[in-house]
Amino acid sequence: MTTPSFSLCVYCGSRPGDKPGYAAVATAVGQWIGRQGGQLVYGGGRTGLMGTVAEATRAAGGRVVGIIPKALVDMELANRLSDELHVVDTMHERKAMMGERADAFIALPGGIGTLEELFEAWTWRQLGYHDKPVGILNVDGYYDALLAFLAHSVQEKFMGDWQMGLVRSGSDPAALLQALLDESRRHPGGDKLAQVL
Ligand code: AMP
Repeated sequence: MTTPSFSLCVYCGSRPGDKPGYAAVATAVGQWIGRQGGQLVYGGGRTGLMGTVAEATRAAGGRVVGIIPKALVDMELANRLSDELHVVDTMHERKAMMGERADAFIALPGGIGTLEELFEAWTWRQLGYHDKPVGILNVDGYYDALLAFLAHSVQEKFMGDWQMGLVRSGSDPAALLQALLDESRRHPGGDKLAQVL
């Protein structure tokens, strides 16, 4: 197996959501990773959008790295078809490993688990724990209300523009993925996660 050209960490719902557009975009992201010869790093489950993105990545010839806490192996249906499946002791270990294995992060629609992971990757970047791009794929306006709230937070001076500048949002999967990849190639590394987490 050739070395993957990049490694993308995808955060997304363990449920499929209510609109067919969500699964369609998860499929598009997986296909993009596979066609570019990349690697998916994700939570290692087969349920919801998580399963969809992993299946699409593999079907398009990409590599799949799943990382799942042992307590969730049954609940999230651990993906034994992953090229690498890491069953780790804790959620913290999962998230640290996902962060270390990624060149960039992207959040697709999802619930509180997805949001928590997105905000963690973003705040890690703000703290200088890594300098890897972070993206929000805003499918069918799913994240409109969150983005409006974040703009409100800037307006109310609880956040600076520079912090908003550490995350990129967009609705076109290929355009956002390419922008994240280009950004990660412009300033690779800067990863201190192994030391600080
Ligand atoms: P969700 O978006 O709630 O469907 O969850 C998506 C993924 O986030 C699942 O694989 C969850 O296990 C994971 N996750 C990560 N951190 C957390 C957390 N603190 N609470 C709940 N789920 C989490």
